[in-house]
Amino acid sequence: MPCHDSEHPNKKCAPAGIYIHIPFCLKKCPYCNFYSTTDLSLKEKFINALFREIDSHHGFSLPIDTIYFGGGTPSLLSPEEIFSILSRLFKHFTIRQGIEITMEINPGTAGAKNFHGYIDAGINRLNIGVQSFQNQNLGFLGRIHSARDACTALISARNAGFSNIGIDLIYGLSDQNLKDWENDLQKALCFHPEHLSCYMLSYERKTPFYKARKNGFILPPDENLSGKLFTFTWEFLSAHGYIPYEISNFSRTDSEIKEFYRSRHNQKYWTFAPYIGLGPSAHSYLHPVRFWNVKSVDQYIRAIQSGISPIADKETLTMEQEMIESVFLGLRTKEGIDLKRFEKKFGPVFSNSFSIPLKNLKEKGYLTLSDTFCKLTPSGMRFHDGICDLLIGAMP
Ligand code: SF4
Repeated sequence: MPCHDSEHPNKKCAPAGIYIHIPFCLKKCPYCNFYSTTDLSLKEKFINALFREIDSHHGFSLPIDTIYFGGGTPSLLSPEEIFSILSRLFKHFTIRQGIEITMEINPGTAGAKNFHGYIDAGINRLNIGVQSFQNQNLGFLGRIHSARDACTALISARNAGFSNIGIDLIYGLSDQNLKDWENDLQKALCFHPEHLSCYMLSYERKTPFYKARKNGFILPPDENLSGKLFTFTWEFLSAHGYIPYEISNFSRTDSEIKEFYRSRHNQKYWTFAPYIGLGPSAHSYLHPVRFWNVKSVDQYIRAIQSGISPIADKETLTMEQEMIESVFLGLRTKEGIDLKRFEKKFGPVFSNSFSIPLKNLKEKGYLTLSDTFCKLTPSGMRFHDGICDLLIGAMP
């Protein structure tokens, strides 16, 4: 089979990632718009369908160097179930040595015994969805776990031997002030995580929080406070040795192997690297085609049981779409946009079409521009979406 990613910057045949969507949760959080169901009775049928989807990729041409169990709540699966899925993947795909295998953990579902099991199953990186270390905030977010559960999960994971742990936190909650957020960050640092993801609470369409905000039941922080929270996060974590390598992601540096703890899997999404998504609602990208599975575990199981592909739809990215996404995704990252690569692919857009907006943004201190890179400064990151709109509006 031909290489799917001949345009990848570094390699003729870049390794791909695999994302597995585990579509179950004990309870839906009111801010979340990821697909999941609380009907756990379908778990066994889902795993059998997932096996068959994995089998259908037998002979996939690219080597795999990252696997990511996301969801939903992957920690609703036992270590034995995780092991059986990984064994199936190792049977059908070419797995690179030193592969990163990440699993998302909901602190309300993982017991100490399970962490040992997950390590034995082959998981070598955890992303623990703590969200906050304060019960009041966890209650507001509708989480099933307490602050104590979060601490117990972090300690158990370390004790089990995990040496690469990420913590997910959410900020910008209703009534949250700077001090309250600082307390969460301080507490997170006590556990010396290798990685931190700090997401500003967003109000996605079709979620209960979206409705509540629209009806005035939730008041998000105003522009001024949001800006302060964002800037504080970057400054505070940088001062404590965490490099902001993407707008919401921070990795601890290692004095010998710099930034070893970035999420290798998530970086694929920001750099147009190839990935395969398995499970309901999972997205895949094999240049230049993006395709995604049906967003229903029922439909997913039925399709696979009838020998039909679970793919719901696909799109072939046009040059214009790729250019827009290159700007949008590139400016989210610490490295910014690689201008040589960008112009090789899309022509002299930066020097011709973007020169006036870039000059203005540079004067305001929102971005830095060299012969080789265009990247946002920390204050520019705060206005990432607006800056991208401005540049995209100037596109030829
Ligand atoms: S546990 Fe995670 S995936 Fe499930 S509803 Fe809550 S935020 Fe969404």
